[in-house]
Amino acid sequence: MPIDFTLTAAQLRLRAVAREFANDILAPVVRAADEDPDPQSAFVRVKGAYVEAYKLGFATGFIPKRYGGGGASNLDLQVISEEICAVDPGFATVLLVNGLALMPLVWFGSEEQKRKWLPPASADPRGEYLAGWTVSEAAGAPGGTANFDSPAPYPAGVSLTATHDARNGEYVLNGEKYWPCNSGGWDLEGANVNVCIVRTAPEQGGASGLSAILVPRGTAGVSYAQPISKIGHRVCQNNHIRFENCRVPEENAFAVGHGDLCINRAFTWSGPVAAIAAVGVARSAYEYALDWAKTHTAGGDGPIMRHQAVGYALADVAMRIEACRAFSWKAAHYQDLNDSEGHAIGAMAKVFCGETLFDAVFKTMRIMGVNALDRRHPLERYLREAAVFPLYDAGNLGMQMRKIWQVMANPDFDPRALMESRLTPFEKVWPPRP
Ligand SMILES: Cc1cc2nc3c(=O)[nH]c(=O)nc-3n(C[C@H](O)[C@H](O)[C@H](O)COP(=O)(O)OP(=O)(O)OC[C@H]3O[C@@H](n4cnc5c(N)ncnc54)[C@H](O)[C@@H]3O)c2cc1C
Repeated sequence: MPIDFTLTAAQLRLRAVAREFANDILAPVVRAADEDPDPQSAFVRVKGAYVEAYKLGFATGFIPKRYGGGGASNLDLQVISEEICAVDPGFATVLLVNGLALMPLVWFGSEEQKRKWLPPASADPRGEYLAGWTVSEAAGAPGGTANFDSPAPYPAGVSLTATHDARNGEYVLNGEKYWPCNSGGWDLEGANVNVCIVRTAPEQGGASGLSAILVPRGTAGVSYAQPISKIGHRVCQNNHIRFENCRVPEENAFAVGHGDLCINRAFTWSGPVAAIAAVGVARSAYEYALDWAKTHTAGGDGPIMRHQAVGYALADVAMRIEACRAFSWKAAHYQDLNDSEGHAIGAMAKVFCGETLFDAVFKTMRIMGVNALDRRHPLERYLREAAVFPLYDAGNLGMQMRKIWQVMANPDFDPRALMESRLTPFEKVWPPRP
């Protein structure tokens, strides 16, 4: 049977465990965390749940087994993520960001670097290990994120510079990052390690001037301001980081001259996960609205589900959820077949599901009516959470759509490759070749 949406026995177990974790351990803490006005305090409120998730292997399960991880497939991540996101997508982002940080090391690091940095991620006896994916910068010049691969020299593109001090065998980092998740750690003293995208050649454009560098906790010259206070995904910590003459051994650098590829590949890997995150949130909104429609009359002579308009709206939401889940799974399956690559399809799934399901969540609010605005009900939170999907994990307009365009503009692009799950060529050129 070549097409089969049935989960394996192992995946069914994974789903049951993830669902139980989400309902029994995560759900009791997320409401208060979401309402906490202090973003760092909100993050710390979910630390206990994180430790439990870590023990279950959800925090680093994506790392290949040979480096101490769980060797989870992209499809496995789909199953886990939907369940967690149905309860809180901000929490799932904390887990996801460990992967955004460490998977580039798996793809681009030397064997020595992998042996040094990856096994500790899954071997923390306290279960508190965090890795920060430290790419994004505040909007402006220098700064900005979407144009990381701009061909123009500094100050266009990434502005955190790493100057090579060959005499001391070090890189010296100066500049700021804004938005990176997890980077500040549980105490704003730093994650266990931050994988930073830096400008090693400021006179060159982003396709050759960027690199990745590992900055471990405790490195002098890094400071973390209070995290950003956001409207959604409030339990994940987004940092404002300053680097002032921060010295890092040169052996911590990898993908030298190819930091752009790290960014592209990481946000390709995460695309299907962000897509299924949107499914998880929309699923919860839909189930709440369906139940409401079957139990509330709005003063009429029966439940509002009797109104065709309400039924049609619910049908529309249900269709979108099914379509988006299928697309997310397809994209993850494609990536499993292609060593986690899939620059077009990962981005497509992320863009399509995030946009489609933001609308779907708003539709569930229209079904419920004005009471959806009452904060006693969860729909206003689901809307705030859903608003994040088109904007985070490489914004749809500035980064993900551009990636799809770039793949399609390649003269060697075969439009049937996606359908047939064959790898599409992706090149580091900006703008794409006509
Ligand atoms: C919950 C959450 C978690 C996050 N986690 C991380 C993390 O772990 N690490 C990290 O580094 N970042 C993280 N971010 C930041 C996130 O990845 C953003 O997607 C990233 O900063 C890019 O934002 P942007 O697309 O708005 O780019 P910006 O550079 O701010 O661009 C803004 C807008 O300008 C327009 N634009 C700019 N350039 C172009 C262009 N070339 N073509 C078309 N339009 C353009 C687009 O409309 C774009 O949306 C997180 C954000 C959130 C909300």
